[in-house]
Amino acid sequence: MNNCLFCKIINNEIPSEKVYEDGEILAFKDINPAAPVHILVIPKKHIDGADELNQEHTELIGKLILTVKHLAEEYNLDKGWRIVTNIKEHGGQTVRHLHFHLLGGGQLGDFGLR
Ligand code: 5GP
Ligand code: ZN
Repeated sequence: MNNCLFCKIINNEIPSEKVYEDGEILAFKDINPAAPVHILVIPKKHIDGADELNQEHTELIGKLILTVKHLAEEYNLDKGWRIVTNIKEHGGQTVRHLHFHLLGGGQLGDFGLR
């Protein structure tokens, strides 16, 4: 049984504010936004994180990043924006389903070791 939070969002078992969807990709608003625009872009196929990516995923990764870019355009983030993907414990990954954060809508801070 798949107990993954984002798989449940994909399957509509948990509600979310969807902003884009196609056969392979879902994008929805982050429940606890860290910036005025904070959207999560995820593959519908469960992948644990960027550490589990391989050659088979090359096309999917391209589509995910292009989806982030298209959303940045849709939300008029012409002054700039950021893509973040956290990996495992030290990377701060709290949901173990690959996701790209789109952050923007204001000046973003520096990041690094806490
Ligand atoms: P991570 O910390 O793994 O990089 O990112 C997980 C993100 O998922 C966090 O920014 C968190 O706010 C968001 N999140 C956690 N649970 C939910 C939820 O149920 N719905 C939505 N929309 N976002 C969630
Ligand atoms: Zn999942």
